[in-house]
Amino acid sequence: MSQTVPITVAYGDGIGPEIMEACLFILKEAGARIEIETIEIGEKVYLRGNPAGIEPSAWESLRRTRVFYKAPITTPQGGGFKSLNVTARKTLGLYANVRPCVAYDPFVRTKHPGTNIVIVRENEEDLYAGIEHRQTDEVYQCLKLITRPGSEKVIRYAFEYARQNGRKKVTAFTKDNIMKMTDGLFHRVFDEIGAEYPEIEKEHWIVDIGSAKMADTPEVFDVIVLPNLYGDILSDVAAQIAGSVGMAGSANIGTHAAMFEAIHGSAPRRAGQNLANPSGLLLSGVMMLVHIGQPDVAERVHNAWLATIENGYHTYDIYQEGVSRERVGTREFARKVVEHLGQKPQRLKAVSYSAASGITKAVEADLNRPPARKELIGVDVFLHWRERDPNRLGEAVKMLGDERLRLTMISNRGQKVYPDGLPETFCVDHWRCRFMSPDKTPITHQQILDLLGRFAAAGFDFIKTENLYLFDGVEGFSRAQGE
Ligand code: NAD
Repeated sequence: MSQTVPITVAYGDGIGPEIMEACLFILKEAGARIEIETIEIGEKVYLRGNPAGIEPSAWESLRRTRVFYKAPITTPQGGGFKSLNVTARKTLGLYANVRPCVAYDPFVRTKHPGTNIVIVRENEEDLYAGIEHRQTDEVYQCLKLITRPGSEKVIRYAFEYARQNGRKKVTAFTKDNIMKMTDGLFHRVFDEIGAEYPEIEKEHWIVDIGSAKMADTPEVFDVIVLPNLYGDILSDVAAQIAGSVGMAGSANIGTHAAMFEAIHGSAPRRAGQNLANPSGLLLSGVMMLVHIGQPDVAERVHNAWLATIENGYHTYDIYQEGVSRERVGTREFARKVVEHLGQKPQRLKAVSYSAASGITKAVEADLNRPPARKELIGVDVFLHWRERDPNRLGEAVKMLGDERLRLTMISNRGQKVYPDGLPETFCVDHWRCRFMSPDKTPITHQQILDLLGRFAAAGFDFIKTENLYLFDGVEGFSRAQGE
């Protein structure tokens, strides 16, 4: 028998305290060997003037226990408050967000009987890097960052998860027909890592048609791995079409720590009424038990929960006349699960966990890849310029180049507008002027600074630059439409 494991618990806001109490009651009755350290997070902390929603002292507990069992919180409306979830995921390096989405038909109504998908969402990067700027009167920008180590970790995690849990297929969704470099990297890493798992079927879908297919025939998917934004949206879709967002749990896994929570929010309208369904948080707790090496207890809890659902003890959100036996409150539901401890479901599939299943440990990226040969061959200079005529801009900016850095084109919102643009193309006040060395021979940073000096002297407002590099002879930048 393993030792007692310290875990950090936050009761959260809204329905959080009542569902957390119910879950801890079930886990303890099932014999979970856990020692609880409680921290305060959420609304009260925000409103005390802490924009992160968590006290600095709480991090000490999290860094000590490395296991966070978290109830939902309420993020106050209005500016200045940071999402605690995003902060926790990034601060603790929780790069993989694992969300099993399962249909429990015929006991819980679903449009898609047989759904059993695990979404593995990248959790730290993509548009969630939170790097946004207003650059001109008309243009705001959000940087989308996709990294090789970040992609490697989450994709390898998805394949390891599939292997350890007897899953047959891993699917990736990206939009690499448009974002050829960022989503293209994710797709390429998926193909590279997938090749190491010959026994697992692999497929890639463009995210738009892939999502449509997932919403229509979820039963054909198994494990799905996605970049952050697509994963955020599609994991809610998957949970909802499986039955209810109230029934899905999630694990946020990192090298140094892990966080377990329901996918739903704090449902303030239901708070304090003994109504809420604790199932999502309970199933997160099951994943936590596997993670901390107590698969025996995880199995007991999960099977008792399945038997409770099957026997028709349902909270209001899943109660159905003619299907359910009894409409129960949060506390009564927890007591029913405890009464079912030791039982297995008869019609729903019973679960069985071993130390090597359920929730896969974090995996590492290869950080020892040799660096590429990197050559600086040009620069994109972005301008805030209020006039609308690309030809006038082109003629003025052309003069600022020299024999090492020549203007090759100007684009507006990614569309080439100079030279040879069309008058029909709509232009905003945000222009990209591309200067390249004519023969792609390397240039120096000083030559770029000299160019910018000429822009400043000519009275242009350059708002940012992007250097253009070759990596091992391959262009590390996209070409504009029409370039
Ligand atoms: P919500 O998930 O709280 O509620 C959506 C709907 O689902 C509501 O009708 C609610 O009654 C129902 N519902 C949710 N969980 C349920 C449960 N366990 N049992 C029964 N019914 C349940 O989403 P929302 O209303 O958009 O957000 C409310 C608050 O939660 C906001 O402040 C939001 O910021 C926060 N939130 C927190 C988290 C988190 O802490 N992880 C996640 C999402 C939203």
